[in-house]
Order: sequence, then C-alpha cells, then structure tokens
Amino acid sequence: MANSDLRIKEAFYTLQGEGARSGRASVFIRFSKCNLWNGRESGRKAALCQFCDTDITGIDGENGGVYSPPALLELALKLWPSNAGGQPYVVFTGGEPALQLTDNLVSAFKTAGFETAVESNGTLALPKNLDWVCISPKGKSEVIIKSCNELKLVFPQEDLSPEQVSNIQAQHYFISPMAYYGESDIESHQSGMIVRENMQAATQYCLEHPKWRMSLQTHKLLGID
Ligand code: SF4
Repeated sequence: MANSDLRIKEAFYTLQGEGARSGRASVFIRFSKCNLWNGRESGRKAALCQFCDTDITGIDGENGGVYSPPALLELALKLWPSNAGGQPYVVFTGGEPALQLTDNLVSAFKTAGFETAVESNGTLALPKNLDWVCISPKGKSEVIIKSCNELKLVFPQEDLSPEQVSNIQAQHYFISPMAYYGESDIESHQSGMIVRENMQAATQYCLEHPKWRMSLQTHKLLGID
C-alpha cells in the first residue's frame, strides 16, 4: 500500500441528511477510522467519543476499499449522475476524515468540478481549501478548529455543553438529538424512550437558546443511508 493510498469504508450517492445543507444530493465518502474511538465495542467505554452510531472500521462497506487519490476521484465521478445538472457535491466524512484528507485530494476534486465539504470532530488540522466545514465536537476531546461553516453538537453530552463550544465561530449552530442509546438497549423498548427524551431536551434547549437550531437526521426518517 502506497503512502498516499486511502482507506475508504464506503462511498455512495445520497441526500445530505443533516444541518444547513440537509436535502442536498451528495456523494458521501466515508473514511475508515477515527482518532476518538477505535470502533470496537470493547473500546467504547474508554473512548473520548462514546456514542458513535456508525461503523467506522475496515473497508468493507459499499464501494469500500483502498484507493489511490485519482481512483477515488474516478469513483466519485462515477457515483454522481451524469447530465443531472447542479454542481457535483462531495461530503468527506468518517470516521475522522482529517486523518487522511489532504489539500491535494481536495484540489483534485475541485478541479474536477466538485464542491467539497467535510464533517469532522475538529480535533485535527483540516485542508484549507475545503468549501464547507462542519465541526461536531465530542466529549472531552480538544477542538482545535475554531472557525467553521456549521457547528453541530450532538445533545445532550455528559462531558460537553453547548456553552463550552459556543466560542467556535460558525455561520450555523445546530443541536442534534443524540440517537445512540447504548448497545444493550438497542433491541429494548428503552431505546425509543431515551431518544424521545433527547429530542425533548434538544427542543427545550433550542427554545431557550435561539442561537442554536434543531438538526434532525432526516436520512434516517427517509430510510436512506
Ligand atoms: S468522532 Fe465521529 S466518527 Fe469518531 S467515534 Fe465519534 S461519532 Fe464516530
């Protein structure tokens, strides 16, 4: 494997489900691995981020694999519907994309006509040439990105309140009700109750703090990825 090779968990064409660009057709590229959790249930309790609801390990998802940067661009171009109109839009997500995403890769996508976006936990440096940056701080991790297009906070978090991150400059501030409810609760009736409680708490927070807007995971409501 060459140094520049990229480990991709999955890549697919879908609608952006969350935040300011919710509903926009997008190519999603999910990078494998995160710096805040090793992706294994046995490591969840010790992780800096303990409520991840995504499979972030390996390269075994749809279109997953090890790609050179040109091969990844070629895949993204293939996923975007030809002659569909509208500017092609790519969302680099993860896992933590900052572990692998480079200025050169972003440049290559932009040269090919893509508008480029990233979803990151904000703890690592990001390429400077991205068109849209969404930061989602997690727990006790140290966020080093202090300015972004949208700040999305999963709520409520035991170790992190909106007040603790409201110094980060953003065009949009979003509260996203926590959907993860613990492995042992997934099959139980408890799960729906906890999610409902989180939604009520998030609603109340937005009503009391209008700087923050509600962001729902509309892709889950629509039953898409
Ligand atoms: S920071 Fe994001 S990708 Fe990483 S473990 Fe947390 S939710 Fe998952």
